Amino acid sequence: MKAVRYNGVQNMKLVEIDKPQAGPGEVLVRVIYCGICGTDIHAYRSEGILSPGTIPGHESVGIVEEVGEGVTCVKAGDRVAVGPPGDCGHCYSCNTGHPNTCAHAFPNTLGIGPGTQGAYAEYILSRFPQNELFLIPEGMELEQAVLFDLVGVGFHAVRRSQLRLGDIAVVFGCGSVGLSVVQSAKLAGARQVIAFDMKPACLERALTAGADLALEPTAENLQMTKEKYLSHEGGAHVCFEAAGNVHALYGCIDLCMPNGQIMSIGSDPNPAQIRTAALGPMEYDLKFSFTYTKEEIHQLFEMICSGKFRTDIFTICKAPLEKAEQMIIDQIQGRLDVARVLLAPEGC
Ligand SMILES: [Zn+2]
Ligand SMILES: [Zn+2]
Repeated sequence: MKAVRYNGVQNMKLVEIDKPQAGPGEVLVRVIYCGICGTDIHAYRSEGILSPGTIPGHESVGIVEEVGEGVTCVKAGDRVAVGPPGDCGHCYSCNTGHPNTCAHAFPNTLGIGPGTQGAYAEYILSRFPQNELFLIPEGMELEQAVLFDLVGVGFHAVRRSQLRLGDIAVVFGCGSVGLSVVQSAKLAGARQVIAFDMKPACLERALTAGADLALEPTAENLQMTKEKYLSHEGGAHVCFEAAGNVHALYGCIDLCMPNGQIMSIGSDPNPAQIRTAALGPMEYDLKFSFTYTKEEIHQLFEMICSGKFRTDIFTICKAPLEKAEQMIIDQIQGRLDVARVLLAPEGC
């Protein structure tokens, strides 16, 4: 079968590999769409994220082709989403309701763990179907379901925050994660969501996602926001950092109310400078958020199905497997600006 292999930084090639077979307890899925995640794009341009030899692709949807002996959670012909969290199911995190912080999750995740075969391929083999496969409800398009990784991160961050009905939320970064935060915060009852991004197109999308205000994060705009919208409480109740850079984190600190909460979602390898002497007296709550849980995917699928959670704000485009590398390069070079490129091994 056809697959796209990661051979190292800036090196991905279409290859022919053996089609896997479902052994006892395993499930073979025919891939219909696989999203090119931001993680894949980072891995393409920076060392140390994927190991050479890995077939990427950790957010896919498809049709169950073959079930191994003893599998009861799905049957041939079922429509499923295949993806993270690749948690182990046995450790303390897994047993206490936090599978997304499982220390074994990354190496176990198909398409991320060293040498694993992800869904940049015609077929994907799930060894832990109970953990990795989500049934797609009837009435939900595959193009919607494949966005689970992209919408799940923001959804989880809002659920993990202390945002309450009537609060004000600030969101820095209106890429896919930020848009999901904006929408989730509105659904959670925020009375006002103020979004910041440098790109005009992202600000447009933030407004469509439900933001009450979408602004460029200039010094003047931050000051104006404080004076005009945040003066009563002295800041926002919860500030979400979804841009993945320290400046956005500083923006969150700047706009947070005393005793308010800062949710850090973005992943930035650069160290941040925080002066505890300035922050301590405010008793800010600084919290981090990472991926999402299976339960949240279930919740999201139900909400998307019933029309409560919109997916039309996330722009997609489809491409054959052969174009995987080109699509990643186009996104890095800014020639392609979509929320998700969906690789379609069977054609678009
Ligand atoms: Zn991802
Ligand atoms: Zn675990």
